[in-house]
Amino acid sequence: AGEVSTDDLLAWVRAFARLVEENREALTELDAAIGDADHGANMHRGTTAALAAVDGAPPASPGALAKKVGMTLVSTVGGASGPLYGTFFLRVGTALGDAATATPAEVVAALRAGIEGVVARGRAEAGDKTMVDALTPAVAAAEEALAAGRSWTEALTAAAGAAAAGRDATTAMVARKGRASYLGERSAGHQDPGATSAALLLAAAAETLLG
Ligand code: ADP
Ligand code: MG
Ligand code: MG
Repeated sequence: AGEVSTDDLLAWVRAFARLVEENREALTELDAAIGDADHGANMHRGTTAALAAVDGAPPASPGALAKKVGMTLVSTVGGASGPLYGTFFLRVGTALGDAATATPAEVVAALRAGIEGVVARGRAEAGDKTMVDALTPAVAAAEEALAAGRSWTEALTAAAGAAAAGRDATTAMVARKGRASYLGERSAGHQDPGATSAALLLAAAAETLLG
């Protein structure tokens, strides 16, 4: 498996922005059911600004690019998701450091650090019906695949599949964090918007990070 370069990370951000744009209305509809109907707009604004901030003149390293994306998400997205996704990318960037490329194991470790940042900031636990329910199984699947000696392609494919399964599992959950928690039991039966956008982030990674 090849090393992950700044260009690879840029391609990941570009693919994420594209998937968010394609799913903007769907994300908003999910948020209309259990939130305030702005997740599609929030994510579209954030990913468009993040891509604009790094496209054309990409930062010098994958870590610097991730940090720039994180800072842009924090500053452009007003909702809960902006600071959480922003923290995710900032922590990924810090974990990657200044190296010109990253190995698959380093990328997965950085994603793990990103989740830890999301949890430190948002205090969501597994089963609370949030983006964490898609992100955590995805990174666990990637870790397991690499630990088992599987390829980077297999690890990313497993991660994207686990994120999608985690997203689907949020439908049955009762929300305990974020706006959806105001609905209590009535939040059950609806797929979580943030877990849905998180599955798009992993789908974008599987599309682009193969080095
Ligand atoms: P807002 O709720 O402020 O309108 P968004 O609609 O953009 O923000 O994002 C909502 C999503 O954010 C939820 O679907 C959920 O996945 C995620 N979320 C909300 N609060 C938390 C939290 N404390 N920890 C993790 N994720 C959260
Ligand atoms: Mg919302
Ligand atoms: Mg809102």
